[in-house]
Amino acid sequence: MPSRRTFIKNISIAATSGSLIATSAKAFTVPADKPNVTTGNIVLSTWSHGIPANEKAMELLNAKARAIDAAQQGVMVVEADPKNTSVGLSGYPDRDGIVTLDACLMDELGNAGSVCFLEGIDHPISVARLVMDKTPHVMLSGSGALQFAIQNGFKQKKGLSPDAKRAYTEWLKTSAYKPVINIENHDTIGLILRDERGNFSGACTTSGLAFKMHGRVGDSPIIGAGLFVDPEVGAATATGLGEAVIKICGSHLIVELMRMGQSPQRACEEAVKRISVKQKNFKDMQVGFLAINKAGEIGAFAIQPGFQYALAMNGKNELKDAASLLKAERK
Ligand code: ASP
Repeated sequence: MPSRRTFIKNISIAATSGSLIATSAKAFTVPADKPNVTTGNIVLSTWSHGIPANEKAMELLNAKARAIDAAQQGVMVVEADPKNTSVGLSGYPDRDGIVTLDACLMDELGNAGSVCFLEGIDHPISVARLVMDKTPHVMLSGSGALQFAIQNGFKQKKGLSPDAKRAYTEWLKTSAYKPVINIENHDTIGLILRDERGNFSGACTTSGLAFKMHGRVGDSPIIGAGLFVDPEVGAATATGLGEAVIKICGSHLIVELMRMGQSPQRACEEAVKRISVKQKNFKDMQVGFLAINKAGEIGAFAIQPGFQYALAMNGKNELKDAASLLKAERK
């Protein structure tokens, strides 16, 4: 326990430094950011595959579909892409040569559904949707998730895509176990949106870390880590090394910071900073966050340079470069 004197000293350091480093005192001393209000439908999602996902989601929002349907169908475009090696059944396998899928979604009322460690189903996000809509639960895993999917009419598929087979054969030559996310071996799709009526929804789906241990589950299907939606506040999603995101409950942290008045951008920066404070090897990993609030402001921030996201609003759908902690540090 800090002494009262140390505690007071910490408060004054935090209050005067202007640093983004999180301390319990600082979290409550940060003045609220002034929002810039944007109306209309807004969709944002991780990486360049976010462009077709946003397009689909926006098409649905423009047709006045439910926010959750737009989010789900947006990420399904990426799950269905046979060339995608990090989302859906064409993703790279684990170190036993099996593709295992993680996905979750949250709707405009804060309902949630999730599946993890699911094998052989080409739309894990749709199974997560059924978990949300048809069961009293939030999350089903492994063989139980598969059984539920099959009972609901999904067909199980076996085998690897040609690209994944090639990459796995290559990986087997060394079988190097390096559970570090770099620019080549990640790329979850996390998609969050706010419709013109102010409803939020989000969806997140991935085949996870390439050549992971069999049974490993990352942040993407974990409500509060890979995705969080609060109807009163906004939404956040994550990509990158799931272990680092889980340890700080990344998406939930961002939504809570927004609830306290921080802009989505500052909240994303704070979450990345939190990882950098807590994880000694943060310079060797990549994590990126996206967020959106009630006013329609958006945030994007990553540890490393190179995190791109797709932003659809005002009739445009564009790929953007997120700012990053390490680039900022080197200045
Ligand atoms: N977050 C995902 C995971 O840890 C991977 C990624 O975003 O690329 O499984």
